[in-house]
Amino acid sequence: MNLPGKEGTIIKGYSGFYYVLSEGTIFTCSLRGKFRQKKMEQTFLPGDRVVISLLEGDKGVIEEVLPRKNELLRPTIANVDQALLVFSLTSPDPDFALIDRLLLFTIEEQIEPILIWTKSDLATEECIEKAKESFVQGQIKQVIVSAETMNGIEAVKNLLRQRITVLAGPSGAGKSSLLNALQPGLALKTGEVSKKTGRGRHTTRHVELLHLSFDALVADTPGFSTLNLPALTAPQLGELFPEIVDLMGQCRFNSCLHRTEPDCAVQEAVEKGLIHQRRYESYLLFLEELINQDRRK
Ligand code: GDP
Ligand code: ZN
Repeated sequence: MNLPGKEGTIIKGYSGFYYVLSEGTIFTCSLRGKFRQKKMEQTFLPGDRVVISLLEGDKGVIEEVLPRKNELLRPTIANVDQALLVFSLTSPDPDFALIDRLLLFTIEEQIEPILIWTKSDLATEECIEKAKESFVQGQIKQVIVSAETMNGIEAVKNLLRQRITVLAGPSGAGKSSLLNALQPGLALKTGEVSKKTGRGRHTTRHVELLHLSFDALVADTPGFSTLNLPALTAPQLGELFPEIVDLMGQCRFNSCLHRTEPDCAVQEAVEKGLIHQRRYESYLLFLEELINQDRRK
């Protein structure tokens, strides 16, 4: 007998069962036999969209997996829509070079980055100005928040709703506190999110999507724990800087790497302040890193 299927999202897999969120309810699902026979179990990830048929109660069977739009390796999650890059305005001071590196990773994975500046209650006007000015207006979404005063928390909720989100950022930046502010009672100890990144020898971690009450799914482990640049060619690097993409085709040379070439639209934009000086310096630094990697091969 074929019951009408329901579409849902896997939020975690555990001991052969998959927990599938569909229309606000979590169904405990087993796999249709065809998936087990083909040893396809590993290909089911949190974030995968599936079609389930319902059994009694809140049990079901996964009948079908829908195509993935992307697959993040750390944490291993499918269909990630966006990454919140969480950095504190102060204590500790933001590491802008690290922000640029994380932006590169997210854009490379085709995940939308959103910069979340935390601890606004501790920050001076000067810190806030410096953070806001770290990108030329409009190039990257930014929100200023405080888990202490709840400043900006509603805005973050609106960004998370109906999307799959990973958090990234250094330990101590306020990721756990942010999650607790978004959903009081989530009972994450502060520091807990970051501790899970430690890849202990014996840990078989089960990555999980947290289902927050305002219809949001957030990975319980932070993303992008490696800082090595992805495998790119030098020309591909520019494609990962939105500022440079905007100027595509405007340099004299098609093969321009925007370093010392004449009539380079990127160098001109930096001089005019249309591209932030620090962003350009990060670009040059990454470029050198890629070229050195190539030489070592
Ligand atoms: P994580 O390592 O990124 O998960 O950071 P935590 O959430 O554990 O926060 C690190 C420290 O910063 C903790 O002592 C928090 O209490 C503190 N903290 C986090 N967010 C805020 C905030 O908005 N305001 C203030 N004053 N402290 C915060
Ligand atoms: Zn150029």
